[in-house]
Amino acid sequence: MPRIAIVGAGQSGLPLAFGLLAKGYEITIVTNRTPDDIRKGSILSSQCIFDPALQIERDLNINDWDDVCPPVEGIGYAVPHPEQPDTKVIDWSARLVRPAQSVDQRVKMPVWLEKVEAMGARVLVQNAGVAELETLTQEHDLVILSAGKGDVVRLFERDASRSPFDKPQRALALTQIHGLEPMPEYSRVSFNLIPGVGEYFVFPAYTLSGPCDIMVFEGVPGGPLDIWRDIRSPREHLAASKQFLDKFLPWEGARARKVELTDDKGILAGSFAPTIRKPVLTLPSGRMVFGMGDAVCVNDPITGQGSNNATKAAKVYLDAILAHGDQPYTRQWMEQTFEKFWEYAHWVVAWTNSLLTPPPPQALKLLSAANTSPSLASFLANGFNHPPAYFPAWTDMAATDHLIQEHQAA
Ligand SMILES: Cc1cc2nc3c(=O)[nH]c(=O)nc-3n(C[C@H](O)[C@H](O)[C@H](O)COP(=O)(O)OP(=O)(O)OC[C@H]3O[C@@H](n4cnc5c(N)ncnc54)[C@H](O)[C@@H]3O)c2cc1C
Repeated sequence: MPRIAIVGAGQSGLPLAFGLLAKGYEITIVTNRTPDDIRKGSILSSQCIFDPALQIERDLNINDWDDVCPPVEGIGYAVPHPEQPDTKVIDWSARLVRPAQSVDQRVKMPVWLEKVEAMGARVLVQNAGVAELETLTQEHDLVILSAGKGDVVRLFERDASRSPFDKPQRALALTQIHGLEPMPEYSRVSFNLIPGVGEYFVFPAYTLSGPCDIMVFEGVPGGPLDIWRDIRSPREHLAASKQFLDKFLPWEGARARKVELTDDKGILAGSFAPTIRKPVLTLPSGRMVFGMGDAVCVNDPITGQGSNNATKAAKVYLDAILAHGDQPYTRQWMEQTFEKFWEYAHWVVAWTNSLLTPPPPQALKLLSAANTSPSLASFLANGFNHPPAYFPAWTDMAATDHLIQEHQAA
């Protein structure tokens, strides 16, 4: 059986490890954090995972939170009126056909890490760099680097042809809370877009202390939501979150009157440039390392797709490894495997990037038309499960009009 090392124990690396262990592969996991480090650390993501990616976890028998994690049952979309912030020019919502789920990575990753070890994976706790990768490539038939946004992923060359941005497009912040007023009828990702200012979305999740909600703030750089750099404490972070909502999205501010942080580590602020990297790294020795997940395809969280992409990448890589048998893992095989993932992911990246610049008129037309067409609203909501479905209507006006007519007729 081939020996495979996976560097990075996150949303892509661990599902791949489970899939390979189940087929008898010899697996080494290298991670720079122990389960306890993760449990005691800060939140890392808002990790809303839609049903197709959850199904991959279920098929691997690793979705342990279906019974406890509150479901995300729909998507709501609102754009405030530019002159009257207490009224909305776009306002619709629709149910997801099957619910999404957000389990705090501080809950999930330690359990998964302990479980892979119990299944026979060798777990090494070290901060892998070039020297460690060299050793791993000597000892294994394939080394996969799935280290998320860790510095080591910069060893992969940026693919300029697939990366339109070289700077962060949003100032990001997460505020994880208890006490948010639920939405009527069904729970949802309540997505609010404030042109020129940024975006705010909030949805139910599950954390160390049980059910909670996660607020995600996406501030246009230099704008009134680019406020997180000067914040000095969790209290200030929570206060800034509430103040912003009261001023720009009063209906969301009203829901958040009584919220408290789940814990002092339930906050995050930062920024990064969405980047696609070339998937094969050649080490000084000439041996190769194959990238997966955020390491080679990191998206802005505005569309909540990173964990979904990471899980779907793990599935593509798992199938490719199983189909490859005992043959050597060549550069050509690695590039072909990444391209198989990219056939899907390039749509996700295109959709996500389109929302970071002023959205195309086609997208605005679709989002507005959903105001009066529940069928179109349902289509747009369920596109989060499989973003390629948005195309060509997202960018081609003839297709936009056709889709709108079709749904209006429905
Ligand atoms: C603010 C924010 C909100 C988000 N919200 C969502 C959302 O709602 N929905 C969604 O789908 N996605 C979301 N994401 C993205 C999602 O969290 C990531 O895309 C996903 O976790 C990527 O999985 P991964 O396996 O590539 O990396 P990760 O899950 O980040 O795992 C990387 C692992 O590598 C380890 N590591 C790093 N460097 C090294 C090293 N040198 N040596 C050894 N180990 C190392 C890390 O400790 C970590 O365990 C969000 C991200 C952010 C920043």
